[in-house]
Amino acid sequence: MNIILLGPPGAGKGTQARVLEERDGMVQLSTGDMLRAAVAAGTEVGQQAKAIMERGDLVTDEVVIGIISDRLEEDDVKGGVIFDGFPRTLAQADALGALLGTKGLKLDAVVEMRCDDSVLVERVVGRFTCGKCGEGYHRSFKKPAKEDVCDKCGSTGGFKQRADDNEESMRTRLLNYYKDTSPLIGYYHAKDTLQTVDGTADIDDVTAQIAKVLS
Ligand code: AMP
Repeated sequence: MNIILLGPPGAGKGTQARVLEERDGMVQLSTGDMLRAAVAAGTEVGQQAKAIMERGDLVTDEVVIGIISDRLEEDDVKGGVIFDGFPRTLAQADALGALLGTKGLKLDAVVEMRCDDSVLVERVVGRFTCGKCGEGYHRSFKKPAKEDVCDKCGSTGGFKQRADDNEESMRTRLLNYYKDTSPLIGYYHAKDTLQTVDGTADIDDVTAQIAKVLS
C-alpha cells in the first residue's frame, strides 16, 4: 500500500509514519528528513536548502521531486511507502502521480491529518529528540523520566532541537502550508483518494483512526 500523510507541521505525520513503518513494514519517505541529512552531510543540495529550511520556506519543487524520484528507484519501496511531507505543492502532486505511473505503482490513499492551529505551534516549539537514537520528546507532554537521560537508549549525550522548530519559522511554515499545500486537500478529494482523521487526538487514537480509514 502506498499512502500520503498530509497535514500542517506538527500534525504528527512523522510520528504516525514511524508507527506504520514498524507495524506494517512500509517505508517512510520524509523529504524533510532527507533534506536534513543532506544539510548535515554538506552536499550541494544541503547547502542550497539550509537557509530556506531554517526560515520555514519551501525548497524548490525541482529539488524535492528529484530526491523522491531517486528514492523511488530503490528496491525497498516495493513493500509500500508512506510519503511524509511530500507532496507539498500542486506541481509536486502532479509529478508524484506521473512518477508512480511510470514505475507501475499506485497511490492507495491520502490521509489528511486535520489539526487546530492552536495546538500546532505548542507541539512544534516544545519538541526535541535524543541526539543518539532520535527518540522524540516534548517539553510539556513527554519529558524524559530522568532529566538529560534518554528513556529509550539511556544516552546522556544530549538532546537536540530542529533549527526550524521555533515560533518564527513555525509561523512561516504554517503560512506556506495554507498557501501551497492545503490546495492538495481539494486535489486529492477530486481524485477520490482523500481520507480525513482528527490529528488533535492523542497518538494511539490517531493511529487507530488511520488504521480504520485504510482498512
Ligand atoms: P518537514 O520535516 O517535513 O517539516 O520539512 C522541513 C523543511 O524541509 C520544510 O519546512 C521545507 O523547508 C523542507 N521541505 C520538506 N519537504 C519539502 C517539500 N516536499 N517541498 C518543499 N520543501 C520541503
